[in-house]
Amino acid sequence: MIDPFGRSITYLRVSVTDRCDLRCAYCMAEDMTFLPKAEILSLEELDRLCAAFIRLGTTKIRITGGEPLVRRDVMTLFASLGARLGGALDELTVTTNGTQLARHAEALAAAGVKRINVSMDTLDPAKFAAITRWGKLDKTLDGIFAAKAAGLAIKINAVALKGFNEDEYDRMLAWCGEHGFDLCLIETMPMGEIDADRTDQYLPLSLVRARLRKAWTLEDTDYATGGPARYYNVAETGRRIGFITPMTHNFCESCNRVRLTCTGTLYMCLGQDDAADFRPLLRAGVSDDAIDAAIHAAIARKPKGHDFIIDRRHGAPAVARHMSVTGG
Ligand code: SAM
Ligand code: SF4
Repeated sequence: MIDPFGRSITYLRVSVTDRCDLRCAYCMAEDMTFLPKAEILSLEELDRLCAAFIRLGTTKIRITGGEPLVRRDVMTLFASLGARLGGALDELTVTTNGTQLARHAEALAAAGVKRINVSMDTLDPAKFAAITRWGKLDKTLDGIFAAKAAGLAIKINAVALKGFNEDEYDRMLAWCGEHGFDLCLIETMPMGEIDADRTDQYLPLSLVRARLRKAWTLEDTDYATGGPARYYNVAETGRRIGFITPMTHNFCESCNRVRLTCTGTLYMCLGQDDAADFRPLLRAGVSDDAIDAAIHAAIARKPKGHDFIIDRRHGAPAVARHMSVTGG
């Protein structure tokens, strides 16, 4: 699948639910309304769409959400996708908040998942409870260590939030080094209405990187995971730090990704509204050829890039849907 800008589309992110057991302040409003069950694709429907993408050249699938591990029976999807590893699919992975990992880590490893991303924005229990509104740090840590024990490689994702966790990155980098995890910092993106003004939260990672360099040796590396992060080796820990900078730097040139939501809507760009709806096709019982043709038609509409610009006056979101709809 080659898009109109010559980019090869090999990476599919699949949001398997819009629901979540946390309410991270930058991601969701506290009183989120979730989709009615009838609009959500079954795991078999999601599997069929993933199979079509794999047939057309997708080599990497990341399962995300909402919180993917709160979806009932989601392990059956991991198992069926995992069975395609070693064939056309090279990698199956997941982004999770970690709350359900203690239960599922072994099954993820058994399905062939090798690396996972766990979102954890702070190591301070009180701050963790505040930013997630409903979370307990210990539960996420238990999940992280269960995943480590199951042999999964772990990357900790932290959203960089001005005045919230900006004094913690040194400690987090050291903690990740101690436990053998990579760390990835992410700039906040203006997606969906939340209960706060995002201009207050935005922290450019160019600044963070410059501050980190005072204490750490960040060595250039061409390490890449097929995602949007730019990585450095941290000489002192032997682990890596990544920066995802959609706001400070155009990360679209090498974009190889499209995103499927739990309703069967394919977004060709995280930061644009154009989408292709596969649910009517699936529910009309169309052939695999018709699904493949619809995927090709969607890829042919992939835009050059996003237009995330924080509106400094009223902090309105650039796209109306929340990150929990399209997944991270
Ligand atoms: N619930 C899972 C989790 O938290 O890892 C998966 C879904 S979550 C939407 C995926 C990632 O998006 C998380 O790392 C989260 O911190 C990040 N995220 C959510 N809202 C964001 C925003 N407005 N800007 C930047 N990153 C965001
Ligand atoms: Fe849930 Fe992940 Fe959004 Fe937090 S970032 S509210 S854990 S979907």
